[in-house]
Amino acid sequence: KIEYEGFTPEESRQLQQNVLVGKLEQVKAWARSNSLWPLTFGLACCAIEMMGTGASHYDLDRFGIVFRASPRQSDVMIVAGTVTKKMGPLLRRLYDQMPDPKWVVAMGSCATAGGPYIRSYSVVKGVDQIVPVDVYIPGCPPSPPALIYGLNMLQEKIKLEARGKKVQR
Ligand code: SF4
Repeated sequence: KIEYEGFTPEESRQLQQNVLVGKLEQVKAWARSNSLWPLTFGLACCAIEMMGTGASHYDLDRFGIVFRASPRQSDVMIVAGTVTKKMGPLLRRLYDQMPDPKWVVAMGSCATAGGPYIRSYSVVKGVDQIVPVDVYIPGCPPSPPALIYGLNMLQEKIKLEARGKKVQR
């Protein structure tokens, strides 16, 4: 007996009979979660790992995740690196230019909480002070597999929230 990811046993049974039954919101969430378009927001060393994740070895495209250079074509912001207080308003402006629905991934300890610069006068102690964050990925820097795991968690979150479930960040 096969159970499909994100579906109840009854829905899985119906899927096996080639009958797709689901709420429109769930179908939209399934489509959205499998075609995430992140805005590149590399700010420091973590960005190198993010770029490596998008390159051929780790191949993010296989998850339907394709980087975009414009906020107007993006639905995920991966904040990879140290957010300075000067950069904060620009980051917020780009976030505001992204169409809804949209999500934010804080990659690395700098984006999550200030990282090694936690005592610096110029660094924001977590990008969640500027934009709402959906997934936090620990590490300094997180490896490409860690970023892929975080993005997979975001895909799960999108699908679960469409089913009315509350997901902890
Ligand atoms: Fe660099 Fe570490 Fe900060 Fe990432 S978390 S930007 S690797 S100092």
